[in-house]
Amino acid sequence: MNGQNPVFIPGPTNIPDRLRSAMNIATTDHRAPDFATTFMPLLEGLKDVFKTQSGQVITFPSTGTGGWEAAITNTLSPGDKVLVARFGMFSHRWIDLCQRHNLDVEIIECEWGTGAPAELYGERLAADTGHEIKAVLVTHNETATGVLSDVAALRKAMDAAGHPALFYVDCVSSLASMDFRMDEWGVDLAVSGSQKGFMLTAGMAIVGVSQKALAATENAKCPRTFFDFRDMLAANAKGGFPYTPPIQLISGLRESLAMLLEEGLDNVFARHFRIAEGVRKAVDAWGMSLCAKTPDLYSDSVSAIYVPEGFNSDDLTNHAYDVYDVSFGVGLGKMAGKAFRIGHLGSISPVMALSGIATIEMAMKDLDYPIELGSGVAAAQEYYRRTTNRALSKAA
Ligand SMILES: *Cc1c(COP(=O)(O)O)cnc(C)c1O
Repeated sequence: MNGQNPVFIPGPTNIPDRLRSAMNIATTDHRAPDFATTFMPLLEGLKDVFKTQSGQVITFPSTGTGGWEAAITNTLSPGDKVLVARFGMFSHRWIDLCQRHNLDVEIIECEWGTGAPAELYGERLAADTGHEIKAVLVTHNETATGVLSDVAALRKAMDAAGHPALFYVDCVSSLASMDFRMDEWGVDLAVSGSQKGFMLTAGMAIVGVSQKALAATENAKCPRTFFDFRDMLAANAKGGFPYTPPIQLISGLRESLAMLLEEGLDNVFARHFRIAEGVRKAVDAWGMSLCAKTPDLYSDSVSAIYVPEGFNSDDLTNHAYDVYDVSFGVGLGKMAGKAFRIGHLGSISPVMALSGIATIEMAMKDLDYPIELGSGVAAAQEYYRRTTNRALSKAA
């Protein structure tokens, strides 16, 4: 890797120079009095990204997986029933985590390429008249298949069933790239991390927690120490951390938040939509198809693309890496060998996206894919020529 080319993997994402600089700071004392004056406003500011007024944001030195574990262990007890749909590698891994914590996991199996089925969730919840289900889980953006699920519809299904379960959403690869509304959608635990929409290195779990979820911590019996919300909140309230915080990453996160708010979240979402739409036009021009089955499921942060029969997507991503020094996402789980992924989230522009489309196109041509060189680039160019990154252009 020459380090010049952007990556087109759906996390970790490209780190803009501004954030690299922000993370390049000398050691400071996290027990010094001014740590609180910089850290507390950051936690407050992050609420804008989650779109929560009533909830709190809790961070851990960890990754998204640690965020899953924190959300689960702080609010549930072994044997508790949780309801969750499986439609890709990330929903699968969260299910696996729940099972290893001895939760009673009721799984709605879905075809990969589909999203969370609100009606089926609703049926299971309506049938659970004794309210044994304590938690409803969903992966907002399934990064393995490039599928975005309708979280608002799930909330509606929960409300229609009059079900009191807590609502957990994995928004690791959607937050700060696509619209997310913690309060409006009644999300109790929203799990994210630093290395996707926040454009930083991996290393922080960032979790939005509702008051209802905080109340649940008192009765939750799952063991936790490192991830105990109560320890973290008690330390945060005094302006500190229960252990050594990653201050360089915290510095980066402060700057990342500033960048997101300067651009404006609506513009951030519009930019992601525009870039993704260009990629989708390219896929169309190649005569190939997305794993996501219908347009309402299309993700604006990652596109998973089936390769034609007789081709192996791993050969393609390896070739792009070996020959052109550019990384694309491989097919995960059931998609291994069948699909590759173009990550288009975080610090990325349409111009960068064009370079990725051009590169994978060269790699496909080298491997005798039945595509016309330049066709995908031209389709994306046509789309980018007609659109802008501003929020209002979304309808254009
Ligand atoms: C990246 C990602 C995660 C977390 O992975 P980590 O490697 O632990 O940060 C979880 N869920 C989704 C949907 C993701 O895209």
